[in-house]
Amino acid sequence: MPMRLRAVAGLVVPVVIAMAFICESTPARAETGECTTWTAQILNQTDATRFVSALLSGQDSLSDDPELICEQLRQSAAELEDAVDELALHQRFAEAHDRLVAYVADHPDSSSHLLAKVEEFRVWDAQERLPLVPAPAAKHLFTHSTIIQTRLAFDRDFESAGYDKWMVTTREFASILQQLYDRKYVLIDIRSLVAGSPGVALRQAEIRLPAGRTPLILSFDDVNYYTYMSKDGFAVNLTIDDDHEIASTYRDDTGKLNIGTQQDVVPMLEEFILQHPDFSWRGAKGIIAVTGYEGVLGYRTQPANKQTARYATDMADVREVVRLAKLRGWQFASHSYSHGSGWFDKTATIGAVRADVARWKAEVEPIVGQTRVFIGPFGTIWNDGDARRFALVAAGFDILCGVDAAQTIRVTKSSLTMGRLNVDGFRMKRTPALLAPFFDVRSTIDPARPR
Ligand SMILES: [Zn+2]
Repeated sequence: MPMRLRAVAGLVVPVVIAMAFICESTPARAETGECTTWTAQILNQTDATRFVSALLSGQDSLSDDPELICEQLRQSAAELEDAVDELALHQRFAEAHDRLVAYVADHPDSSSHLLAKVEEFRVWDAQERLPLVPAPAAKHLFTHSTIIQTRLAFDRDFESAGYDKWMVTTREFASILQQLYDRKYVLIDIRSLVAGSPGVALRQAEIRLPAGRTPLILSFDDVNYYTYMSKDGFAVNLTIDDDHEIASTYRDDTGKLNIGTQQDVVPMLEEFILQHPDFSWRGAKGIIAVTGYEGVLGYRTQPANKQTARYATDMADVREVVRLAKLRGWQFASHSYSHGSGWFDKTATIGAVRADVARWKAEVEPIVGQTRVFIGPFGTIWNDGDARRFALVAAGFDILCGVDAAQTIRVTKSSLTMGRLNVDGFRMKRTPALLAPFFDVRSTIDPARPR
């Protein structure tokens, strides 16, 4: 008899009765299909007690629909996972670890995803006790959403040259992550670069890491899945898969919509850290920078769409993705509302900048939450002393990131400014030496790129 049943010997008789009921009423399709846990649960008898308890307490969870049972099991795993992620977010890794270990012991058919998380929490907890030394200056790299189908992105239409310049492919990004990890970079939270009171007495904080590790920040711009890119081999949104992982929705070669974790930057980094938890320092992930004019994360949540049939669903779905991403340690950043050309040629007036910030705060902040981080569209964060820069800081964005190959960090009393190095076709083709400290361009660059 499994240990769990022995522990609740008083329930054994009802369990057997209920088992007979369950087996009799189980449709044959429970044996086949995507979710085979139904049969497995019965045979293992692990969750039988749960069903019986529900039955005895009069709850309505003993369905004879295997798909519904599967959904309920997934739901309970997801709820547990959210609870341990919440602990981890508050750096309570040991508690998160122990709770997950207990759950997995009771659920022998737990997904490989949950099993990997046990190790993730163990590693992040152990990091606290490692000997630390002052780390070298933090580095900051950024990319955009990855090209999944190079054939579509590089089809020589008028967008092709832009994609070749400003994007990386999925294949390149996978290789870059592995090389960053092999070269002992470790992801940190950008907020850990500063200490003191925001806005009045900010100061640079010392980063301490195990000897030989270099702190790294990764940010991803325009994670909006703009409509102009939708037919060019990019994902169409971020979503949550059946394993409660952050995934992307993308079209396969036949044009069919799929959900996967190996397509696009956010799920790929999430999955990579799950397999290599020590790539993250104490649970830090990346920064997702979004505009607002076409909604957020592939959901068309801009007010112009309020009358559409899918608006309410889109709004609920995007909030759920954001909630999960934040629970998993991701940061969100404003990338301006409009990404307007006035930021490119620097002609935007102070009024235009203020209006842009106000619109982002009104439409996007309710979805992604408050953030201190502003990532300048076209790299523009305005010069020191410029009223347009004051407008950003005054709006609460006291961590400002532009584009600067040297990745300079500057801290004043009121703000942290950090330059970022763009990882894209332009850099790989024109100035590979700048990328050499991070990865080997020659072996990384996708042969599918135009020559
Ligand atoms: Zn941008």
